[in-house]
Amino acid sequence: MDDLNASKDRVGAEVDALRDDLVSLSARIHEHPEVGLQEHQAARWLGAFLQEAGFTVEQPVAGLETAFRARHRGTHDRPHVALLAEYDALAGLGHACGHNLICTASVGAAAALRRAVPRLPGTLTVLGTPAEETTGGKVIMVDQGVFSGIDAAMMFHPSRNNWWTRGALAAQSLTAAFHGRAAHAAAMPEAGINALNALLLTYRAIDALRQHVTSDVRIHGIITRGGDAPNIVPAFAQGDFLVRAGTRQALADVMAKVRRCAEGAAVATGARVELTEGLVYAERNNNRVLAGLFAENMRRLGVEGERPPAQGGVGSSDIGNVSMVVPTIHPYLKIADDVSGHTPEFREAARSPRGYAAMLLAAKGLAMTALDVMSRPGTVDEMWSEFRSTPAPSP
Ligand SMILES: [Zn+2]
Ligand SMILES: [Zn+2]
Repeated sequence: MDDLNASKDRVGAEVDALRDDLVSLSARIHEHPEVGLQEHQAARWLGAFLQEAGFTVEQPVAGLETAFRARHRGTHDRPHVALLAEYDALAGLGHACGHNLICTASVGAAAALRRAVPRLPGTLTVLGTPAEETTGGKVIMVDQGVFSGIDAAMMFHPSRNNWWTRGALAAQSLTAAFHGRAAHAAAMPEAGINALNALLLTYRAIDALRQHVTSDVRIHGIITRGGDAPNIVPAFAQGDFLVRAGTRQALADVMAKVRRCAEGAAVATGARVELTEGLVYAERNNNRVLAGLFAENMRRLGVEGERPPAQGGVGSSDIGNVSMVVPTIHPYLKIADDVSGHTPEFREAARSPRGYAAMLLAAKGLAMTALDVMSRPGTVDEMWSEFRSTPAPSP
């Protein structure tokens, strides 16, 4: 145990030694925001950092051009810990979810741990997981078996709270494209089929549906195409929606109803609807054993977790799918007070001194927790026995 504590002290010192490199890498990614599956620069920069730190880097992974895997085998194949790195930005808003901090915390943790413990008693992998905000890179990586043989997966997410365990909603995207018929909007309106009306009716129908769903359900959307000119009956209209619920089973039920909203609007207007569905993001299964180790390390670093509210205040992430196959944690660390993610204010917090301080703290906490998993006898069995005793994942 004394050895472990001494190693943890060295891990902390190594993260501090990497401070300037990590902050400048994080700032560079913040300045060059790339949306899902286009994170070519970020993936290259992070891969180069890890290569320099002695990791063997592979890219692409699972058929994803901007996914990477960086591995360092210590003295044993197992335990095998994966630190996950997200680096996609939001369309139009840049790094307003702070993923520039997530990726540098994970690569910083990995580099510091390798330097602090040269004979690492296990294998350490950093997985670059693209497109968290859009396609769900982790869903594809889970399906392609990238997580097989891994004993624990972890990452941190910037937030307005210090929450070590927090649930998340299952989610799926739905694009509704309506095909109508153009006509002169004044001279021959009777010849037109108004695709925009079909989309607006879909909105209204979804609003009516809100009365009849459980309180965890969230349905939100935007109009991406609404016609070309007011004097032409819109022949094409399109909306992007996100549907969320507490479990994948509940999500499937709500999705069926949302689909009917669009189909009914098509019938009412005579337009033809084309529905495209995204990959399903699973709800989150937090591993309490792993979270307990992280909490202990954060306490050691002087930070106590806060108790999350019983309901509300949760989003969705493709780490849910990881948490269905491997013991997983996704703790949150505060980078600003009372600022919602996905806003310009949060984007600024993600490149503030407080944001970078949280990133470095997360790097220390994650590296120390990875070391616990590899060094403390029985930890892997405890994590997996908890994992196996949690309710069977819904389909
Ligand atoms: Zn986000
Ligand atoms: Zn995020």
